[in-house]
Amino acid sequence: MLHTKPREDSYLQKGLRKQLVQILRDKTIDGKPAITDERVLTAIEAIPRHFFLDPAFERQAYENRAFPITAGQTISHPFTVAFQTQLLEIKKFDKVLEIGTGSGYQACVLAEMGVTLFTIERQKELYDFVNEFFFIKKYFNIKRFYGDGFQGLPSFGPFDKIIITCGAPFIPPKLVEQLKPGGIMVIPVGEDGKQKMLRILKDKDGNIHQEETGDFSFVPMLEGKNK
Ligand code: SAH
Repeated sequence: MLHTKPREDSYLQKGLRKQLVQILRDKTIDGKPAITDERVLTAIEAIPRHFFLDPAFERQAYENRAFPITAGQTISHPFTVAFQTQLLEIKKFDKVLEIGTGSGYQACVLAEMGVTLFTIERQKELYDFVNEFFFIKKYFNIKRFYGDGFQGLPSFGPFDKIIITCGAPFIPPKLVEQLKPGGIMVIPVGEDGKQKMLRILKDKDGNIHQEETGDFSFVPMLEGKNK
């Protein structure tokens, strides 16, 4: 179960977080460093990931792996968070939409980078948890919504960047509509826990370009809200 009350960020945990950042720095794809955006690594070093996990998992919070949170959902693997964030080419003050708030960890990484973040969660239990979570309250630049990510947030768009943190069966057309010209969307597409990470670029004329960046595994993006 997730905990909403304040917790300590000890020297041990800060040290483990530095080691995690080093693991991310050392990771290579085809012999080249995979994570080179220093702002992403700085944000990961700043956010106490153990706050987002059950206290029973605290010691493992800085291992490079995914964890169960609640309601059958997971907090993404730190490498996945770093990789998706880097693909977004975040600039300060970008307006970003996230689909799948989950524990709120990815949201805090983006907020730490100075964006205005709109995040949608379809599970009421998780949405309510994040509303009570002490740490997320310090980010006034995070706006949380309970709803269906397939619909996006038409009244708040268009967005500079859109990130989907669950495995989408297809690219939701309404999200493409809500992307600004010049914008970037990062979305894992595929079913049965096997997804290709796609990067969708909308050019200045509104034309769509698609890049494939690797294989990942996510919980599914589901239609509609869940009480
Ligand atoms: N970004 C999260 C990852 C959570 S896992 C984190 O950092 O912890 C993916 C989340 O997507 C789950 O919480 C799941 O409930 C949510 N989700 C799945 N389908 C959705 C949809 N259609 N709209 C909004 N959220 C959705």
